[in-house]
Amino acid sequence: MLTNDQLALWDRENFFHPSTHLAQHARGETPSRVIRTASGVHIEDRDGNRLLDAFAGLYCVNVGYGRPEIAEAIAAQARELAYYHAYVGHGTEASITLAKMILDRAPANMSKVYFGLGGSDANETNIKLVWYYNNILGRPEKKKIISRWRGYHGSGLMTGSLTGLELFHRKFDLPLAQVIHTDAPYFYRRADHAQTEAEFVAHCVASLEALIEREGAHTIAAFIGEPVLGTGGIVPPPAGYWDAIQKVLRKHDILLIVDEVVTGFGRLGTMFGSDHYGIEADIITIAKGLTSAYAPLSGSIVSDRVWKVLEQGTDENGPIGHGWTYSAHPIGAAAGVANLKLIDDLGLIDNVREVGAHLRARMAEALADHPHVGEVRGEGMLCAVELVEDRDGRVFFDPARKVGPQVSAAMLADSKVIARAMPQGDIIGFAPPFCLTKAEADQVVAAAVAAVRKVLG
Ligand code: PMP
Repeated sequence: MLTNDQLALWDRENFFHPSTHLAQHARGETPSRVIRTASGVHIEDRDGNRLLDAFAGLYCVNVGYGRPEIAEAIAAQARELAYYHAYVGHGTEASITLAKMILDRAPANMSKVYFGLGGSDANETNIKLVWYYNNILGRPEKKKIISRWRGYHGSGLMTGSLTGLELFHRKFDLPLAQVIHTDAPYFYRRADHAQTEAEFVAHCVASLEALIEREGAHTIAAFIGEPVLGTGGIVPPPAGYWDAIQKVLRKHDILLIVDEVVTGFGRLGTMFGSDHYGIEADIITIAKGLTSAYAPLSGSIVSDRVWKVLEQGTDENGPIGHGWTYSAHPIGAAAGVANLKLIDDLGLIDNVREVGAHLRARMAEALADHPHVGEVRGEGMLCAVELVEDRDGRVFFDPARKVGPQVSAAMLADSKVIARAMPQGDIIGFAPPFCLTKAEADQVVAAAVAAVRKVLG
């Protein structure tokens, strides 16, 4: 067996890690943590450390680690048929079954699912579909996409543009010209602290209206948003936000793409975030929770309204010129079927509601009065703790102090609990697997409290 030192050396010499400080890692200044195995909510590294993963990988291992039902479904599929493509009408029992299972769970106006590999490529597909749609309808200039600041939609060329986080644009020549950003529905950080929630929603709507007016509705194809902002800070929208935004979009004939990569299949305590907020999407993006990350698989669920136009397009132009080699990969599809079945069989969405509420309530009880905790928020099995320099004046810490990363590092070092310092702002994010118990939730809270006190007093 290779030694840890050998692996660390090969890692530094050969492995180009995503979302990593490349120079520091190559110099050995950041840890090479080699994960060996995992079970339930715990992962274990090669040094024998057992860590409670309160972020479910990258909020994706929703059913928890080490589920034999999914592992066996993957192995059986690999033995029987590891691969065949899905072009020109081909499918497998797994991919056809999974498409049916997704549509059975999706909102009523949804019609078909296109399969991809990850959230980024699914959103790339969505934008192409929206462009195709408007070209077929004879509106070639209706192509711009509105996204929100702090939205996260991937890190491809288009999807990195949609992502409203500066780190994903800087030095990459992004965003692309067709992408425009509007306000994040982030009530806690709103500029005018005197506003009520309702006034803030009215402000978001007015600024969206102004943007549409400025650009011209005839140039805008779609609006994309996550039901709850995820990577941008785990921020549920203020009450009434989605109703008000949808009214504007309908008025201007702008399609709505709802990015449910994080929220799809139960994370908010409902099957989809769209169910929770009463959102009627034209296209829904799914990934992560579709297979609980046991295999890469994503999807674009398109509504009847969009599907009818796409069909018309192929009648006029021949087959749709869009396909990935690995669309509907049988192994991913087999993982998806087993995963969705497990979510139902174990009643995991009920657990999301119950234990998620417990986690947030305990976190708020323990931390809400701390002078450097501005807000404890979340929905379903999502929770965030926003750290601030001055709570009353709502003054944020200088990002250079890296308060958030220090707190998450202390949780890991002292309590062996993994939480995520969100990339913009000093926000500690929690998105545990759905099978978290109340006792484990209490452990997560205790770890957070100890770390906040250690770093901030
Ligand atoms: N959309 C959302 C809402 C996401 O959170 C993510 C990933 N964090 C993506 C899209 C991109 O997915 P992927 O990393 O699988 O490409």
